[in-house]
Amino acid sequence: MQSTLLIFEKDQTKAEALKNLLDSMRGDVQILTFNEQLNPNMVFKTIQVDCLIIAHSCLPDDGFTFISQLKVSGHLVGVIYINEDNDYHLVRNAFKAGVDDYVNYRDLNGPDFNRVVSAILAQKKVEAIQQKSALELAMLRNVVDQMSNLLMVCDTNTSQLISFNLALNRFSRLTTEQLRSSSYVELSEQFDSRTQWIEFVNKVREEGHRKYEAELKNFAGEKVPFEFDTCISSVSGQEYIMFSGMDISRLKEVQNDLVEQARRDPLTQLRNRRGLSEEYTRAYKNSARNQEHICLALFDIDNFKKLNDTYGHDIGDEILIQFADLLRHHVHRPMDIIARAGGEEFFVMISGQNITALKNIINEIIKATGQQLAPHTTVSAGVILVEPWLEKVGFTKAYKMADSKLYEAKNNGKNHARFCNLQDIN
Ligand code: GH3
Ligand code: MG
Ligand code: MG
Repeated sequence: MQSTLLIFEKDQTKAEALKNLLDSMRGDVQILTFNEQLNPNMVFKTIQVDCLIIAHSCLPDDGFTFISQLKVSGHLVGVIYINEDNDYHLVRNAFKAGVDDYVNYRDLNGPDFNRVVSAILAQKKVEAIQQKSALELAMLRNVVDQMSNLLMVCDTNTSQLISFNLALNRFSRLTTEQLRSSSYVELSEQFDSRTQWIEFVNKVREEGHRKYEAELKNFAGEKVPFEFDTCISSVSGQEYIMFSGMDISRLKEVQNDLVEQARRDPLTQLRNRRGLSEEYTRAYKNSARNQEHICLALFDIDNFKKLNDTYGHDIGDEILIQFADLLRHHVHRPMDIIARAGGEEFFVMISGQNITALKNIINEIIKATGQQLAPHTTVSAGVILVEPWLEKVGFTKAYKMADSKLYEAKNNGKNHARFCNLQDIN
């Protein structure tokens, strides 16, 4: 790109002479000359000037102030001050005001003058590039600090934080100083030893790029889930590991809600069959540990088809809700399970030291159903009593056995429970 050079010399002959001296630069440089009618204060607002050659006689009334103002205005313009005599004070003031070089008319010759101008134009080009990259860097830094993602650059050996964005200050409420003396290992609690950290770095190095989920503790000590994107990068021969972490707590909440929803029956809000089998194993192990008896009961509402046919499907639904509430009322210990196994079938798992007490709960449920549900409804149950510390019974087997007992209850007048001990069946 052509540079623009402005010669500000009132004396037309001198101005032409200066221009002629720079003739060899033509092509690379566009040379403009001004007469005394032009206002030097205005010209920089309209033209991008790279170098100004200003004769002393052309300085405005405020003298060098014009130059110092021009220098601080942000215009990247090189200034060559030119005068007639070697007045030391003037030259000193010119440099003080910020001129880049000084030329005396008396010493003026083509090669020297060309060198001075070329050097200044080259210097201004470098400064323009520097100014542009500094601006780009400042803009990038701004973006990086506005981001909600955590950005970190760490030492690959020690995991010490070397650089990071403001999101990390906001998240940890630690100062930049404090963070600089901290490490990724300390922040994440993801690694038990330095060996684990080194293994992790090696894996990232092997894969080139790694995405993973990890928790970081925020300023309040709460663990926040993040999705991290990490890679190894080399800057000036030194290797660093970089992290970009996105807070996924909202996403996790939605995910958990969805999983929870998939485990629940929308009508009664009880666990569905899927949620039930997952819970069963956990509760079974817990009872075995505590040496508590388990009572597995499969309830089935009697003559439900007839109820639907008589009162309509909506009333049928209402009965299912009423029965679910009744179960909740009778079965409420933290480890107990109530689930809608399907249709008008409900599964209950309760545990306790005393078999009689467990049987009573089942019988009370049956009794209360006959008394409280409206329109009048009864329920039957097949019940298995297990000593879980003696034998492990999987969900499918337990369900099948309870179902065969339920079948017995249905074939023997309904509205009651049939019990059996697991030992009796085996
Ligand atoms: P039994 O006493 O032998 O259990 O007879 P039953 O009529 O209760 O059993 P059956 O299996 O013949 O009928 C069950 C009925 O339950 C049929 C089906 O339409 C109804 N049902 C299943 N799910 C729902 C539901 O979500 N809402 C309603 N209202 N009815 C349902
Ligand atoms: Mg049924
Ligand atoms: Mg039924």
